[in-house]
Amino acid sequence: MKLEKLNTKTLQKTLNDDYEKKVVIGYEPIKREQIIREEGETWTDEKGNKWKREDGKNINISLQESIEEQKRFFSCKGCGKYMLLETNRKDIKFFMKTGKCMDCNVEEDNARMINGTYKEYEQEKIKQNKISWLKDLRKEINIVAENYNNQQYMNEITPGNVEIEKWNIDIESNQLKELLLKMYDNTVAVLGIDPKDLE
Ligand SMILES: [Zn+2]
Repeated sequence: MKLEKLNTKTLQKTLNDDYEKKVVIGYEPIKREQIIREEGETWTDEKGNKWKREDGKNINISLQESIEEQKRFFSCKGCGKYMLLETNRKDIKFFMKTGKCMDCNVEEDNARMINGTYKEYEQEKIKQNKISWLKDLRKEINIVAENYNNQQYMNEITPGNVEIEKWNIDIESNQLKELLLKMYDNTVAVLGIDPKDLE
């Protein structure tokens, strides 16, 4: 209780200090000189933003650059189509997986079918999916093994009456991990994945 009171006091003091600082800053008169820029002139403001005077207007080049960068990032790596438009919803699914729009994906698949590499490509895609799934599973095993001693189950006896029950398994954490890893190795073998691909 004493500690709580102390913390509240400290917090209140911090808030007060903060408030005073804000008030002081708030009353400081803002002196900003109006600088007349010449057409074509470039400069950097106190926040590090680059500006340019163009057609009688101050253009924020930094902002423009960051918008362009964002546009590049969300554009198809094949045809350059911008992905964040309302009309491109169907493309997004493909884009998230491959970095390319639906049309580019279809075109590439067609090209692979014609030159006879499609089957190989599809197999590789399936293999990569399995690998990423197995890597996630491996992480899960670590988490389960490390936390199983603290594992608790919610056991509902009657509606709303929840009892927390300790999970009681008569093996050690490292034994459980060993068991799960054996199952994991088995899964790797069944899926036909070379363990080297998982390193
Ligand atoms: Zn495209």
